[in-house]
Amino acid sequence: MAREPVFQSNAPQDPIPSKGPAEKPLLDSSFSPDADLFDEQLRPKRLDQVVGQRKVVNLIRIMLDACKKRGDTLGHLLLDGPPGIGKTTLATVIPQELGVELQIAAGPAITAPKDLLPYLTNASHGSVLFIDEIHRLPPAVEEFLYPAMEDFRVDIALGDGLNARTINMQLKPFTVIGATTRAGMLTAPLRDRFPYREHLDFYETEDLTEIVRRNAKKLRTSISTEAAMEIARRSQGTPRKANNLLMRTRDFATLQDANGEITDAIAKEALHMLEIDGLGLERQDRRYMETLYNVFAGGPAGLSSLAHSMSVPPDTLEDDVEPFLLRTGLIQRTPRGRVLTANGYEHLGKAYPLAGTQAVFPSNQKKLF
Ligand code: ADP
Repeated sequence: MAREPVFQSNAPQDPIPSKGPAEKPLLDSSFSPDADLFDEQLRPKRLDQVVGQRKVVNLIRIMLDACKKRGDTLGHLLLDGPPGIGKTTLATVIPQELGVELQIAAGPAITAPKDLLPYLTNASHGSVLFIDEIHRLPPAVEEFLYPAMEDFRVDIALGDGLNARTINMQLKPFTVIGATTRAGMLTAPLRDRFPYREHLDFYETEDLTEIVRRNAKKLRTSISTEAAMEIARRSQGTPRKANNLLMRTRDFATLQDANGEITDAIAKEALHMLEIDGLGLERQDRRYMETLYNVFAGGPAGLSSLAHSMSVPPDTLEDDVEPFLLRTGLIQRTPRGRVLTANGYEHLGKAYPLAGTQAVFPSNQKKLF
């Protein structure tokens, strides 16, 4: 029998139970910027509201049912995938389904074991501790986390030199859900502590269309089927981008349509003005490809050289820009660096260099345009 969540957010629109030992929970919409608030408003609250990712959702359902049947604590779960794909959504839905508490911690904010300790000692029996960007935990924090995950115990070192001693503190059994955009950056010992690991991939257009339609309804905005599909098609397979485009097109509709409906024509005009192209590429994505073409003659170019030329942090390029360009075959990552593919040249409207002057790509590469 599911227990009621103990912590309830004060925000009326945000029934997700969230609490961290810090003064304000990280997902408290009262101090989040607009985009985060929007995310929270539209985030599914239960597993049956999660659209797409069927394989992962089915596996999570099995995990949850088995855990409830046995009356156990859920095993630790690692979710990886590009930003805005649903990692936080699943991590917040799981404790709702189990009726247990949720604490949310951000990897980059935990710089030393003392930052993690309150989360561990506050964890109630069976509760979930969600650690976002878990690959950013420093090694000392990771090591502190190992016994907590394995034996529900922390080892606290007191004093130093001859007076040094370690005390062990027993914790209540709890579940860590880790989220990462870079599964490859996780150390093997940390990865091995997660018996469950799931990868979230980009969404199909149909699933994104469904997300856009549901979210328009939540926002009490009517949207034509064609407009929902157009937004979905240009959202790079990513629900957060679909939500953002919905928010932006809704502004256009408010001003241009007497009923505020997002029609096909309004959606197309809005997406044109927002400079989202037919493939869903944004200005930054095109700038990346243009830099690769103009500055590096189509590549190969190292990530840091590209980042330097664009004055953008390498992490931003690797996390936010490259995954979709790679997935659509517009660029390739080779041992010598990033290169524009034939599809990439075509998308930029440039002639593909003759053989011998450019890296050769598989001839069966998917035609996109
Ligand atoms: P991540 O943690 O991977 O960066 P989020 O879980 O925060 O991504 O997702 C961003 C937003 O996208 C959520 O607020 C939610 O509105 C929407 N979203 C993500 N995944 C789904 C899904 N499977 N079904 C419906 N909406 C989703």
